[in-house]
Amino acid sequence: AVLELSKTGWLLDITKLTLGENIGEGEFGAVYEGEYMGQRVAVKTIKCDVTAQAFLQETTVMTKLQHKNLVRLLGVILHKGLQIVTELMTKGNLVNFLRTRGRSVVNSAQLLRYALDVCEGMEYLEFKKLIHRDLAARNILVSDDNVAKVSDFGLTKVDAKVSDSAKLPVKWTAPEALKKEKFSTKSDVWSYGILLWEIFSYGRQPYPKMSLKEVKESVEGGYRMDAPDDCPPGVFALMKLCWEHEPRRRPAFHKLREKLEQQMAKHSPD
Ligand code: ADP
Repeated sequence: AVLELSKTGWLLDITKLTLGENIGEGEFGAVYEGEYMGQRVAVKTIKCDVTAQAFLQETTVMTKLQHKNLVRLLGVILHKGLQIVTELMTKGNLVNFLRTRGRSVVNSAQLLRYALDVCEGMEYLEFKKLIHRDLAARNILVSDDNVAKVSDFGLTKVDAKVSDSAKLPVKWTAPEALKKEKFSTKSDVWSYGILLWEIFSYGRQPYPKMSLKEVKESVEGGYRMDAPDDCPPGVFALMKLCWEHEPRRRPAFHKLREKLEQQMAKHSPD
């Protein structure tokens, strides 16, 4: 993997990188703000060598993906494990973003815009036949010019290998993925429905006050969350479609994108 990355120009020059403030904590190490050849970047550090090896494989996948709604990889640096350099998303992750701003700052037309941004990124992954497996608002980042982008894609296969089913994000994971580890684009669609709920509730924790065990059991028994306060009925209808028990009855991302565009048109008639 190292050889392939160096041949294709994805190995960056550490002397051109300036590290700045710590801006987040990832599962495998800290995330820093920085600058690389005049561009503001984020640097994710992976300290453990074994994990770094696995991540390196997956960044090779990332080098082949380019879309306006996917956080862009600039390259990697091999120093103290692995450092993954991506575009800097100055407004941070979508959960914190929505929680700190709230209804007084972000209106529902803007929420729809974020939902559509994420959907377009996922439509691209669907087209590339890649499964995210950890789609959730905490993995959506917001750029300086207010575009929501999917992050941690291509890295999620690593997580699945490293962690076990005990570490799955239960509240975001489709029933068939929880029970039989059957992950697919349609299990991503389930997670997208939860993400829609997070967006329209301004970053609330899904299934408020329910334990993971309760969520697993009641969702299996057909329970679904209510619409967030003031959620447009058309958007709640989409959540319900994403939460069909049967994976093939859930809409594909390209279908969801069309439906969201219709919602947008209804919202802002011009
Ligand atoms: P992990 O997936 O290992 O938990 P993340 O990639 O989610 O780690 O990073 C943790 C936090 O760091 C994010 O929630 C976000 O606040 C911040 N972060 C990560 N990548 C970027 C980025 N490209 N730009 C700005 N902030 C980022």
